[in-house]
Amino acid sequence: MVLGVAVGWAAALVGGSWWIMAYVMPWGQIFLNLLKVIALPLVVASLVAGVASLPSLGQVTRIGGKTIALYLLTTVMAVAVGLVVAASLKPGLFLSPEKRTLLHEKFAALGSQKAAAAAQQKEKGPLSFLVDMVPDNLVAAASDNTRMLQIIVVALLVGVALVTLPDQKARPVREFFTSLNETILRLTEIIMKGAPLGVFGLMAGLIVQMAGDDPSDMAHLLQALGMYILCVLLALAIIIGVNYPVLLRLLAPSFLNIRFFRALLPAQQLAFTTSSSAATLPVTLDIAEKKLGIPEHISGFVLPLGATINMDGTSCYQAVATVFIAQVFGLELSLPQYLTIVLTATLASIGSAAVPGAGMVMLVVVLGSVGLGAEGLALIVAPDRLLDMARTVVNVTGDTVVASVVARSEGVQPTFLKNADNYDSF
Ligand code: ASP
Repeated sequence: MVLGVAVGWAAALVGGSWWIMAYVMPWGQIFLNLLKVIALPLVVASLVAGVASLPSLGQVTRIGGKTIALYLLTTVMAVAVGLVVAASLKPGLFLSPEKRTLLHEKFAALGSQKAAAAAQQKEKGPLSFLVDMVPDNLVAAASDNTRMLQIIVVALLVGVALVTLPDQKARPVREFFTSLNETILRLTEIIMKGAPLGVFGLMAGLIVQMAGDDPSDMAHLLQALGMYILCVLLALAIIIGVNYPVLLRLLAPSFLNIRFFRALLPAQQLAFTTSSSAATLPVTLDIAEKKLGIPEHISGFVLPLGATINMDGTSCYQAVATVFIAQVFGLELSLPQYLTIVLTATLASIGSAAVPGAGMVMLVVVLGSVGLGAEGLALIVAPDRLLDMARTVVNVTGDTVVASVVARSEGVQPTFLKNADNYDSF
């Protein structure tokens, strides 16, 4: 990763960006494509196998209820952190009027592109998100990674159907999906052998893309938005460093262990380089099952769902960005408006697809809820990819933390406790 950044930066400085894009980035793209292509079958296999292995429908609803409640709790907590950080550090006041005009001139077109994508979202009725969750054509739904939620709904229903069938009738299908799940997890391990080259290629490519034709120009822009970037990163760090450890301490103390975070590192690294919870899902699942000992019936259900609907990093970022844009435009937010942000950022993060840049498109909905227009997006487009990488790390970590809490509530102990006589706990 570090080498990728260094090589990418050096290439941008000496005008060698084309070479990186032509010969280095493709290796990263191949790696990313491989991860993406297994994400969808893995979601189906792990969800069906996970749900179908539960003994009764009662257990499905119990685990489902706990999962949804925890996802909502962690997301609301994340938005709260974002709001407190942005309201107290006031990043909007650090942007000079000249820089603001410059950002507007440079990024107005990009901002309105995102706004147009979000406009379709806003025009729909209040229950349209429920309608959108149910596909009318399975093949069409499966052909688009941004429609993962539709596949999840179908896979859940298949799992429920299997639970309610007599064992003898359900067994062949259940065993098929269990075996498919295992096969894809092994495939993940094989693909991950190429991770060093893939991550290198992706990072080098990303850096030359970000640097554009004039790296110093980009550096200046990032500097102008320094305080905003800092606020987002600080809020995300608080979520990982405080929110999650506190949650684990209270609800799953045996998982609060340095080994937990060490085991999660490859998934976090991948989330950082790919900016996609969906592309990271195979690795997150593999780690949860093999390294943390979270059983398939819990991880297979909680993690695919979380990758799609639980985005603590995204909701926190949306809160900071909204307050930042409000500050730049001189809009004083009232308490009800802050509460509106909590509600809309929670919903917008649920609605964001687990792919790069989705959080920014949905940000338009949050901005609209406090009377801000989409033109504010032009201010924050420049560092978005960088912040996307960071918030995806939090998204993936949050899913695993919730999976651990659900597992603990079902009496599961982490593998590192079962296997080790003594361990280094916090
Ligand atoms: N890239 C994020 C994810 O996949 C979503 C976003 O915030 O844009 O989790």
